[in-house]
Amino acid sequence: MPAPLISVVRWCCVHDQSPPLHMWWSSETVAVVTGGNRGIGFEIARQLADHGLTVILTSRESNAGLEASNALKELGLSVDYHQLDVLDSLSIKKLAEWIEQTYGGIDVLVNNAGINYNLGADNSVEHAQNVVATNYYGTKNVSQALIPLMRPSAVGARIVNVSSRLGRLNGRRNRLEDKDLREKLANLETLSEELIDRMVSTFLQQVEEGTYPSGGWPQMFTDYSVSKLAVNAFTRLMAKMLSDRPDGQKIYINCYCPGWVKTAMTGWAGNISAEDGADTGVWLALLQEQAITGKFFAERREINF
Ligand code: NDP
Repeated sequence: MPAPLISVVRWCCVHDQSPPLHMWWSSETVAVVTGGNRGIGFEIARQLADHGLTVILTSRESNAGLEASNALKELGLSVDYHQLDVLDSLSIKKLAEWIEQTYGGIDVLVNNAGINYNLGADNSVEHAQNVVATNYYGTKNVSQALIPLMRPSAVGARIVNVSSRLGRLNGRRNRLEDKDLREKLANLETLSEELIDRMVSTFLQQVEEGTYPSGGWPQMFTDYSVSKLAVNAFTRLMAKMLSDRPDGQKIYINCYCPGWVKTAMTGWAGNISAEDGADTGVWLALLQEQAITGKFFAERREINF
């Protein structure tokens, strides 16, 4: 089935940036979206399917995910469903096995599932372990399980991590105070999985001991910011690790901040819709020439980590 013309027309009209030169994807192109039952994830799934891809919508709770995927199917979109709890290694394994048996592989992975317990001025770290486990380790574990299933293609497979400006390494506000750690995370020579894991476990240990307020961590939404800082660093690290794959087997990985979005996560207090929050993620997933990898975007523009 060719991609619906209406999508292309909408793409050209709504956005001032250049549309893709031509559509490299088809209904054979398979995209997996985590946390697809609601919010930004649901919108990413809907928009990718609206562009003509086959979307595997996943959710940790089957009823909610089936309801969401059925709603998209009723629109005539090519959407399949599978359960995925990003905190559960068995669930990740079952998804990977099912994909291999059912589709043989995937072309796009959008790591969207995430949680945040802070609202307004609240900066509780009561749930820090869960936040770091879901946002960082969930993204990492799902990526590592599905990368072996990413299919060879001339345009490259793509991973898009839904992250946040709150996790910026060198933002003027809300950054790590430890300059040495910032530099090590920024430098691709010193950036490593062990460094990122050590950073988050040091944070979680300080939370447990009650010493984190003097630990030099981001001041705002601290646990969430640390988790997204780790996602951003992981994105850059994976881009480097994947960069030596030969032509035809490339995998490009980028992350983006959707903005402040009206979803359950913000108590619907954001200033943009989930549809707009999904836009840059969908754009990154579908870029025509995506030699770009290991970068951070917002509103379809690259921003500094
Ligand atoms: P929502 O709370 O609406 O959606 C979060 C989604 O993640 C839900 O589908 C939720 O499932 C799912 N999820 C949570 N934990 C797990 C898990 N263990 N396994 C699988 N799925 C899980 O929030 P948003 O749509 O706003 O958030 C989507 C992404 O965007 C997140 O990564 C978030 O950090 C990021 N983001 C959002 C911003 C905003 O302003 N809204 C700003 C910056 C980034 P369930 O329904 O079962 O809870």
